[in-house]
Amino acid sequence: MDLLSSRISVMAESATVAMNLKSSELKAMGVDIINLSVGEPDFPTPQYIKDAAIKAMEQNYTFYSPVQGYPDLVQAIIKKLKSDNQLEYQPSQILVTVGAKHAIANAILALVDEGDEVIVPAPYWVSYMEQVRLANGVNVVINTGLDTGYKITAEMLAKAITPKTKALILCSPSNPTGAVYSYNELKLLANVLIKHPRIMVIADEIYEHISFVGKHSSMAQFPEMKDRVVLVNGVSKAFAMTGWRIGYLAAPQWLTKACNKLQGQITTGACSIAQKAAVAALNGDLTLVESMRLAFLRRRDLMMNWMNKIDGIICNIPDGAFYVFPDISSFFGKSDGVFTINNSDDMALYLLENAHIATVAGSGFGNDNCIRIAYATDDQQLDIAMNRMQSALLRLK
Ligand code: PMP
Ligand code: GLU
Repeated sequence: MDLLSSRISVMAESATVAMNLKSSELKAMGVDIINLSVGEPDFPTPQYIKDAAIKAMEQNYTFYSPVQGYPDLVQAIIKKLKSDNQLEYQPSQILVTVGAKHAIANAILALVDEGDEVIVPAPYWVSYMEQVRLANGVNVVINTGLDTGYKITAEMLAKAITPKTKALILCSPSNPTGAVYSYNELKLLANVLIKHPRIMVIADEIYEHISFVGKHSSMAQFPEMKDRVVLVNGVSKAFAMTGWRIGYLAAPQWLTKACNKLQGQITTGACSIAQKAAVAALNGDLTLVESMRLAFLRRRDLMMNWMNKIDGIICNIPDGAFYVFPDISSFFGKSDGVFTINNSDDMALYLLENAHIATVAGSGFGNDNCIRIAYATDDQQLDIAMNRMQSALLRLK
């Protein structure tokens, strides 16, 4: 429609959201689809968190909340950042958002002017580049591969920086590769960034609690960097609360204030009831979070067994999150006699139609040789899905 703004016309649809919808539509039509497309825990939200939401409704937390978020949630976030990450923040540095996705959008829109460059390591999560485009910024992609474990090195970062660089988006643990930056790897990147004081870092730490390699490290932990980091996190993944839509950012005060102004004109405060649930989540202990992490670890191993067993696939071992990102390019040019696979979109479509499993093409994540498989589904379903995938791939000659 020619009435649409150019900013919307050039924007790509979210590949993860689109595949999730397609999978739900096929399911509703009675097709036995196993949905490994969207990244969300299959566990229900823990009962003590639901109880807090019920109590919030009963206590009439049904009015607008402050744009920043309720003070008790802001305090719970500060406490969490201190105890989990050894980071000190003032309330004026915290903003509660409608999911972490919204926190990232706030930060990008508050920082990026037309022509500003944002460094995005690939494979990247589907929404970063589109949000930068929305702000009329320029994405500078650093491609990474299996050789560096899908992580950028200090040299790669230094090479990508120009006088126009405004920000770096760093996601660890990574969606889609599961790569996790260690403290020492972050330090090497910080050493580069310290020489460029006008570059901000958007640190997407939404998978912090789903790590299989020990304690999470954050770019904000380096004192010289702390005032240049927008730390993004939320309750979606760790507490199985994707539908509640509560995220947050912690940043220097000037930036949090700008994001607050933006949010005051676009969404106002996040859902009042969900915020009270998030207070219970963050103030509770991490027992259930740990049991979910252990389930994801078991499934990671189950998936890696399959990745090693299925011919023609190469896959890194993910150190966190709940995705595998196998390279399926050895199938390019092959056909089942009806359909020829030429790229990752073809493969995702082939698997959807012929194995009835929904995955997401790597193209949306900046690597067309791969597909993303979310393993946040029960073990039995994963085995069935991978069996089907193996059979479908065997038919490609
Ligand atoms: N960052 C990454 C890397 C993600 O995978 C997701 C997935 N939802 C988000 C941010 C957004 O999370 P939320 O549900 O809190 O908006
Ligand atoms: N972050 C999840 C994913 O990558 C949820 C969908 C989305 O928001 O992109 O699948």
